[in-house]
Amino acid sequence: MIMSRRQKVLVIDDSQQMHPLIQVRLRGLGVELISAYDGQTGLKIATEEPPDLILLDVNMPGMSGFEVCQVLKESSQTHDIPVIFLTGADESVNKVKGFDLGAVDYVTKPFDPAELCARVRAALNTKALMDLLTTQGQIDGLTGLHNRRYFDERLGQELAAGHRYERPVGLLMIDLDHFKSINDTFGHPKGDQVLRKFADVLTQTCRATDVTCRYGGEEFAVILPASTLELSHQCGVRVLDAIRKCPDFVDIIGRPVTASIGVACAVPSDRMTPAVLVEAADKALYAAKVAGRDRIAAAELAHSQTVV
Ligand code: GH3
Ligand code: MG
Ligand code: MG
Repeated sequence: MIMSRRQKVLVIDDSQQMHPLIQVRLRGLGVELISAYDGQTGLKIATEEPPDLILLDVNMPGMSGFEVCQVLKESSQTHDIPVIFLTGADESVNKVKGFDLGAVDYVTKPFDPAELCARVRAALNTKALMDLLTTQGQIDGLTGLHNRRYFDERLGQELAAGHRYERPVGLLMIDLDHFKSINDTFGHPKGDQVLRKFADVLTQTCRATDVTCRYGGEEFAVILPASTLELSHQCGVRVLDAIRKCPDFVDIIGRPVTASIGVACAVPSDRMTPAVLVEAADKALYAAKVAGRDRIAAAELAHSQTVV
């Protein structure tokens, strides 16, 4: 079974009797059912606690099922929730319209019990697989940190938000010192262990709102939303200190490990791209390496407002 938690199904139907009926029919699936009796309430629930599947009645007074589906598919928060329409017996036009609006399936009322169950189970299995793919596509397999792909996407989003709200975005680029010699001396598996431990220390040292990523190889990156250069710098210093003092590295390879960090920060202009900030932090990282490693250096940003 691919599901690791109880899946939630939201039923939006104005007919009061329909809810206990569906409850009975789906009992064998072990899902949690949530009920809404009109479109507006259904949308609110779908946004606040997104279910894994929505069973949506087409004919409802006020907001119709089609209108609800349209709103669901337009919002990034609810876009990926699969919808199964509940339609009357001979509404073939409605069925086609439902698919056009992005529904994955439909079930005709009155239900054939086995059919309802089978269609719901199929939709939930697909949803669980999609969730798994999404998660794995954004997580680095070795360290469990966000991966490079997620980093690129998230930095873009944070820069856009920083521009809109005129708040700074900090970035740390971190590279382990002489990591090649760790591999060469102790072997690749020990090197991997060091990378995993480093990821743990990084996560523990940064705030929950900081975005910790494996940039690639023995390079890591931390996005610090709404942080000034000074705050970002302080975070980098904390990381260096925690790495230097972490006794686990001595357990793994018999000696401590150090890292070098480049820090950059900007209140993004509309021209600021992820590449600009990454390049600035990378240059600073290089400067930290040249200056002797196990230290942090700050970037100068030519085209944007550096916040001190
Ligand atoms: P510097 O202090 O200048 O950063 O030196 P360095 O040796 O850390 O840098 P270099 O770029 O020469 O070497 C990085 C090494 O990291 C080389 C590569 O084999 C190793 N590496 C990259 N990814 C992994 C990985 O997933 N596991 C292990 N064990 N090693 C890796
Ligand atoms: Mg490197
Ligand atoms: Mg290195």
